[in-house]
Amino acid sequence: MSASRVLVLNSGSSSLKYQLLDMRDSSRLAVGIVERIGEQTSRISHTVLPVGDTREQNGPIADHDAALKAVAEELDQDRLGLDSPELVAIGHRVVHGGMFFTEPTVIDDAVITEIERLIPVAPLHNPANLTGIRTAMAMRPDLPQVAVFDTAFHTTMPESSARYAIDARIADRYRVRRYGFHGTSHAYVSRATAKLLGKEPEDVNVIVLHLGNGASASAIRGGRCVDTSMGLTPLEGLVMGTRSGDLDPAVIFHLQRVGGMSMDEIDTLLNKTSGLFGLCGDNDMREIRRRIDEGDEEARLAFDIYIHRLRKYIGAYYAVLGRVDAIAFTAGVGENVPPVREAAIAGLEELGLALDGDLNAVTSDEPRLISPVSARVAIAVVPTDEELEIAAQTYALTRKSGNA
Ligand code: ADP
Repeated sequence: MSASRVLVLNSGSSSLKYQLLDMRDSSRLAVGIVERIGEQTSRISHTVLPVGDTREQNGPIADHDAALKAVAEELDQDRLGLDSPELVAIGHRVVHGGMFFTEPTVIDDAVITEIERLIPVAPLHNPANLTGIRTAMAMRPDLPQVAVFDTAFHTTMPESSARYAIDARIADRYRVRRYGFHGTSHAYVSRATAKLLGKEPEDVNVIVLHLGNGASASAIRGGRCVDTSMGLTPLEGLVMGTRSGDLDPAVIFHLQRVGGMSMDEIDTLLNKTSGLFGLCGDNDMREIRRRIDEGDEEARLAFDIYIHRLRKYIGAYYAVLGRVDAIAFTAGVGENVPPVREAAIAGLEELGLALDGDLNAVTSDEPRLISPVSARVAIAVVPTDEELEIAAQTYALTRKSGNA
């Protein structure tokens, strides 16, 4: 029996999330997270599947090196360790692959150098991703390690959607263009939506609405992304948990000139204390819905602004695609909050969009249709699975390269 395990690592600035999958049946063998790396109060939470027993350990974990060693020890306890011959590859989530990385890529020194060169456009994410890569490569230098980029799926966008209307020489010099993010999710969900419709991805046009704490929409024609709402960074587009999404860039000049705020302060404002949180003090949609039910006007307005922006993007991508076969809701809010889906689609019957109220109210982990059978456009809820997509791409690439 050939080896078939893939470890997926998602390395953030102070956290390391991981999943070990068996690609024979795409099942999870273990999942976990190391949080607050570098602090005294670090914590590792490790769950062995399918039983679901969770072990937790608290205590300082100094850096990502120590974090991955702690993960390896946890995995060892169940004979799932990093030195197991069953492990064929490690797949790394990398946020920014620029224009260079259009596909998952086996990591070597040249790949690391290119990911480093992209740090100026992803200053928060790429350094953390690189730390995870270096740590894992030091522990298993012989094992294929694959980078799967959040931006890759969007590299098919035509120049007409990818470029900003600014001086082209300046844009080229500083690599200013729309890259898009959440690509692994948009790719997975658009394919799963085609499957739900019993069609091939090449034959369907889909609008994917990835509504988590970060949120993005994309227009996908025949399996290829033609537009997406996030841009140079994940700040553009929809109203998010703590990010503003679209605004007039002159707001920034105004806050600096009139408000006396520094660039760093404005950066923090727009990324960390805006969006739903900035509007009403909460970024969790559960809490916002609870407050609305109690008659809270501030929460209501935040919700209405969120929905208004979402509807604008649905309309825009309808026009970009011309023909829409399906709209898919995914991620924390998209999968779990019926009133968001209802408000996003309400009154759009002229566009062939309608929901079945009973189907919309169903709670489920399965991909499902929530539009009436007669509807021209299928509306779907499709749970995203970025780790499975990273593992599948990693596994496919290692087999193709003859490493497995
Ligand atoms: P991210 O990966 O960007 O952190 P998620 O896709 O996990 O985000 O989504 C997180 C958000 O989803 C939470 O902030 C919360 O608002 C929302 N959410 C998750 N589960 C539920 C639920 N059962 N009911 C309502 N909202 C939910």
